[in-house]
Parts: sequence; C-alpha cells; structure tokens
Amino acid sequence: MARRALILVDVQYDFCEGGALAVAGGLDVAHSLAAALRDEEFLSAYDVVVTTQDWHIDPGEHFAAPGEEPDFRVSWPVHCVAESDGARIVDELADAVRGIDTVPVIEVFKGHYAAAYSGFEGVTDDDEPLIDRLRAHGITDVDVAGIATDYCVKETALHAAQAGLRTTVLTDFAVGIRAPDVAELYADGFPAAGVLVR
Ligand SMILES: [Zn+2]
Repeated sequence: MARRALILVDVQYDFCEGGALAVAGGLDVAHSLAAALRDEEFLSAYDVVVTTQDWHIDPGEHFAAPGEEPDFRVSWPVHCVAESDGARIVDELADAVRGIDTVPVIEVFKGHYAAAYSGFEGVTDDDEPLIDRLRAHGITDVDVAGIATDYCVKETALHAAQAGLRTTVLTDFAVGIRAPDVAELYADGFPAAGVLVR
C-alpha cells in the first residue's frame, strides 16, 4: 500500500520577502501551505509531514567571503544561520505544523558545515538521515513543496526519486528564484528524472 509523505522544504524567513536571501512569493507559499495543512482533507492524503531547514553553522564557500559579491549560484549572502530568526520556519506555517496531531512530523536540518540543497542531506535532531526515517515509516511516495523550486525543492525531489520514492512536486506550493529555470524543470528536468509535476 502506498504511504505518502509531504516534504516542506526550507520555508524559512531568510528565503521570504525581507529575508537575507529573499525569494519573491515565499510568504505566499508559506501562507498557502499553512492553510492547506489546516484542511483535514488535504492532510488526510499524508502519513508523515517533513519540514526541512537550512541550518548553517560554518558552511564554507556556501557563504560569499566577506567583502566579496555572492554569485547566487554557488555562493550566497549569509542566510539561515543556525538558531537565528532568519532560520525559523515562517510562524503561520510553523503553527500549522505544530497543530498536526494525526500524523508524525519529522524535522530535518541541513547544511551545518557545507552547502546542502537536498533535504536528504539533512538529519533529524538525533542525527538520523531523512531517508532512514521515511523508510521506518514505510513511506513509498513523497510530495515536495517549498522554496526554492530551482534549488532546494529540485535537489530534494531528484534525491527522493533516486532513492526510489514516487515523487511529485506540488507547483501550487513551490516558488523559485529564476522563472526560466523553473519552467525548464517543470517541462523537462523533472519528467526526465522521473519526478511528477502537479
Ligand atoms: Zn544555505
């Protein structure tokens, strides 16, 4: 029997309007996801909900060196420093996740000492890799949402598919940085990798 997880990727203040690495539309995604999670019918499709957070302590070249301009592909402005306000999940969504009492919630943190775009590079607070925790829950399918479609959502979805999970990206609940890159992913990149787009 299929068992499905919803993975909410990096819906953190630093990736939303006003944040250190703002993605236009981030707050909209946070609010839409919060509303969806409060809808029993939406939530009933899932056996597990996962949140991932970029959680940097000293991620090396992921942060542009002081005095240097980030290239916004490999190097980025300082963002999502562990324990900082910018690393918090947007309150409304965090409240909605806390309100889930029908299925387990798995919190995953990534990027402590190096860049980590995929949630599958992250670990729970007791250091368990996400894939192990999903397997323990018998998960066969994952839906991926969050920020940003062309970076962490993409890498999380590709990684999930590579791990043998039936993977879908939820376009209504994801937002990207570069529109042409997102369009290319939806049209070609995801389907070629076996990732469904809905
Ligand atoms: Zn980062």
